[in-house]
This record gives sequence, structure tokens and C-alpha cells, in this order.
Amino acid sequence: MSGDLDVTLRGPKAYEVARAALESMEQAKVWPTALNFELWLHMVADPSGPLAQEIERLLSTGEPITDFIAEGLAQTYLPKARLHDQIKDAGEQLSHELATVSRAIRTAQQSNAAYGAKLAGASLELHENLDPGDLKQLVSGLTIATKRVQSENKELEQRLAESTAEVGRLRDHLVQVRRDATTDGLTNLANRKAFDEELERACAAADAAGGSVQLAVLDIDHFKMFNDTWGHQTGDQVIRYVASVIGRVGAPPRFAARYGGEEFAMIFSCESAAQVERTLDEIREEVASRRLKRRSTNEDLGAVTISAGFAERRPAEQPASLMDRADAALYDSKRSGRNQVTSADRKKAAAA
Ligand code: GH3
Ligand code: MG
Ligand code: MG
Repeated sequence: MSGDLDVTLRGPKAYEVARAALESMEQAKVWPTALNFELWLHMVADPSGPLAQEIERLLSTGEPITDFIAEGLAQTYLPKARLHDQIKDAGEQLSHELATVSRAIRTAQQSNAAYGAKLAGASLELHENLDPGDLKQLVSGLTIATKRVQSENKELEQRLAESTAEVGRLRDHLVQVRRDATTDGLTNLANRKAFDEELERACAAADAAGGSVQLAVLDIDHFKMFNDTWGHQTGDQVIRYVASVIGRVGAPPRFAARYGGEEFAMIFSCESAAQVERTLDEIREEVASRRLKRRSTNEDLGAVTISAGFAERRPAEQPASLMDRADAALYDSKRSGRNQVTSADRKKAAAA
């Protein structure tokens, strides 16, 4: 999508697209911030894409597009381009630092070589018969050269220290960028991209060393109704709450992620199906047992429930197929009344 947009923004329709984006922002009463403009450009360029759908959904709920929401949208729907920019910036800074350091080192090498030559020249002169005046001149020349080299070395040291600090800052920034790129902004759980990577990794590890992989998907029940009744912001609080329960139970060595909207996924390595089912039931019970309160007004929101499905990976099974089976088990939980956990494998055994 972003490639197509790049082409559009440098093509014959560029101004038309930009104008359409601005008009649409004005209509939606959205501030023309740079970030909103970027989001709207993508929306105009791809009006039926997932970003456009999500923006339309937000607008239809009457929800204002705050900076926070815009950031969340950008993180979910424009991640690659933004990540790429940040990494590019950090890379450019890094090569700038390296250029500065190598320039400083080259200068220091040159002046050290010149100093060496000066010393060698002085020792030659010392072999001849020197009168006190010449000797004084020689010593004072050497003193000046020594001082210059000392001060240049000190400067080099300082530059190296500065560059070391700057490289450290860049490294921290890249760690943060990587964390942002793999973390869901609303819940702080791993995001879908991180989850997909982890599932690949867990499957590869199981193939290499043996051991089971179980995949669970969990979804909040009737969440659309909850949103429609209490509003999107309160809905977000509920997603955060459910995520906190899942995140606690899904702490390492387990892996928990927000897979999308009100849907979560967990990976269990080397645990029995019975253990996984017990764990999912604990999460389900904890969520259902808590009466939720609206933070702003303290209104009683009642309880929400979740449904879950899980599947144990078959030998050499592809992640996508495992995901499909866990999803099918979740769908069974929904169909048979929600607020329950279904095992894909037990269902198959019962059907056989
Ligand atoms: P089911 O029990 O079958 O899962 O029904 P449901 O209503 O939960 O499922 P459906 O998929 O129909 O609706 C999910 C709703 O979740 C739609 C959307 O309003 C809401 N939603 C998705 N993402 C977010 C989000 O980030 N924040 C909030 N507040 N709501 C969201
Ligand atoms: Mg749901
Ligand atoms: Mg859902």
C-alpha cells in the first residue's frame, strides 16, 4: 500500500489526492496535524483498505480522533514505513558519528607522526655541539610540540567519549524502536507481528529439539454490543483489563499477544493439553468474575466474558494451519454459548 501511495504522491494525481485528504479531514473535523494528514493520505489512496475501514468505524462511533488514537492507528497500519524511517535516521547518525571519530583519529595520527619526526630531529641536533642559546631554543620548540600533541590527544579522548555516549544513545533508541515495533500500543502486550514471529520460532524450536507447541486464541464475547453501549474509550479500558489478565498468566516462558481488535493469542511450549486448558479456564474465570467499573464515572459496567479455543501442533504442521484449527475451536466456543474453552484436538477425538 505505501509503495502505491508513494507513486500516487509523485504522479499526476498528487495534488488531487492531497486535496481530497484535506477535505476529508475538514469534514471529519480532524485537526490537520502531520500525522493525521499521513493517515488520511493513506485512507484516500486506499479507500477500502483496513486503515480506511478502521477510521470510518471510529468516525461512525462519534469518537474524536485524538493524537493518542492517531498514534495507535499509525502504529497498527503504517508500521513498516515509519519503522524504516527511524532505522534509517539512526543509521545515518551512526555513520556520522563513525566519520567524526575516524577523522579525529586520523588527525591525531598525523600530529603524533609529526611529533615523532620532531623528536627524531631534536635527537639528531643534540649529537652536535650546541651552545646554550640553541639548546634553549630546541627545548622550547620541543615543549611547544609536546603541549600541542597533549592537547590534541586530550581533544581526541573527549571526542571518543562523546561518540561513545552518542553510540550508546543510538543503541538504546534502536532497542526502543524495536520494542515499539513489536508491542501493541494499547495493551503493551506483544503485537501481531511479534506473535507471528514467535510462533514461527516456537515451531522451529519444536522441530529441532522436540517438545509440544500449543496455540490458544481468546476473544472477548459480544464486545461490539459493549462498545455500542459504553463507547469506544470504555471499550479500550476493557481490552486493557483483559490484556492484563492474559499478560500475567502468559508471562515467559509462555507468550501472549494482542492479535487484533478484541482478540488475543497465546503460545505454550512443552505443556500438556490439560495444563493449557486449565490455564485458559483460569483466565476465563478471572475475567468473568470481575465486575467492571467505568473509570471516569464509576458506573457499574457488569462483567465481560471471553471465549477461547486451542490446538496442539501436529508434527511439522505449518503455523497458519495450527492457527486455523485454534480459530475453529474458538468458533465452537462461540457457537455453543460463549464464556468457554474448546480444544480442537478433543473435538476431533469426540467426532471420530
Ligand atoms: P463475539 O462474541 O462473536 O466475538 O462478538 P463480538 O461483538 O465481540 O465480535 P465482533 O467481531 O462482531 O465485534 C468486535 C468488535 O470489537 C468490533 C469493534 O467495535 C470492537 N473493537 C475492535 N477493536 C477495538 C479496539 O481497539 N477498541 C475498542 N474499543 N473496540 C474495538
Ligand atoms: Mg468478540
Ligand atoms: Mg473478534
